[in-house]
Amino acid sequence: MSNPHVLILGAPGAGKGTQSRRLVEHFGVEHVTTGDALRANKQMDISHLDLAYDTPGEYMDAGELVPDEVVNEIVKTALEDADGYVLDGYPRNESQTEYLDSITDLDAVLYLDVEEEELVRRLTGRRVCENCGATYHVDFNPPEEPGVCDECGGDLYQREDDTEETARERIQVYEENTAPVVEYFRDAGVLVEIDGEQTPDEVWEDIRDALE
Ligand code: ADP
Ligand code: ADP
Ligand code: ZN
Repeated sequence: MSNPHVLILGAPGAGKGTQSRRLVEHFGVEHVTTGDALRANKQMDISHLDLAYDTPGEYMDAGELVPDEVVNEIVKTALEDADGYVLDGYPRNESQTEYLDSITDLDAVLYLDVEEEELVRRLTGRRVCENCGATYHVDFNPPEEPGVCDECGGDLYQREDDTEETARERIQVYEENTAPVVEYFRDAGVLVEIDGEQTPDEVWEDIRDALE
C-alpha cells in the first residue's frame, strides 16, 4: 500500500503509539496523534468556548476528553498536510467519528485488544523521551540506561496522567465513549482485530500482515 490512511484504535496503553512509530518508519506516513498535539498545547486559551475548563491541560490532567471543537480542528489541519497517515488517539466518540468520516477516507482500521489490568501496568510504567517521543516501559521495554533514551540520548519523563488513579479514569472514559467507536467499525465490517497482548514484534507482524 502506498501512502495509506491507517486508523489505529485501542484503549489507553494498548500500544498505539509504539506501533504507530513502526508504521511511520515502514510506510513513510505521518503520525497524527491528538494526544501529542494537545500536550504541546496544554495551556491554549479555549475560554471563548465557555465550557467546563479554560485549557486542554485541565481536561487531560483529569483524564477527561478535550472538547470536540478543539480536537476536530487539530485533526483537520493535520490530515490536510499529510500524504499518508496513521491516526492515533482519534476518534474517541461518536461525534468525532462522524466528523472524521466527513473529512477523509480510511484504507485500514486496526484495533489493538488488551485487557484492563495489563493496560494499567503499561500506563503506570510508561516513560517517554522528551526529545524524540520514543516510548519505554520500566519493566517491559526498559532503556539501556535508566532515564536516558536509547535512540537520541534525551531525558525520559513520566506523563502527569500516567498515575494509577488517572489511568483508571481514562480507561473508564474509554469504555464509555470510545468502545462504541470500535463497535461502529466492527459492524461496518472493516475492523482488523489484533491481539495487543503479544510482544511488540508479534503485534507488528500482525499489523504488517493486515496491511500487505
Ligand atoms: P493514550 O495514548 O494513553 O491513550 P493520549 O496521549 O492519546 O493517551 O491522550 C491523552 C489525553 O489527551 C486524553 O486523556 C484526553 O484528555 C486528551 N485527548 C487525546 N485525544 C483526544 C480526542 N480525540 N478527544 C478528546 N480528548 C483527547
Ligand atoms: P498507547 O499509545 O496506546 O497509549 P503506548 O504505545 O504508549 O500505548 O504503550 C503504553 C506502554 O506499554 C509503554 O510503556 C510501552 O512501552 C508499553 N508497551 C507497548 N506495547 C507493548 C507490548 N506489546 N507489550 C508490553 N508493553 C508494551
Ligand atoms: Zn529520544
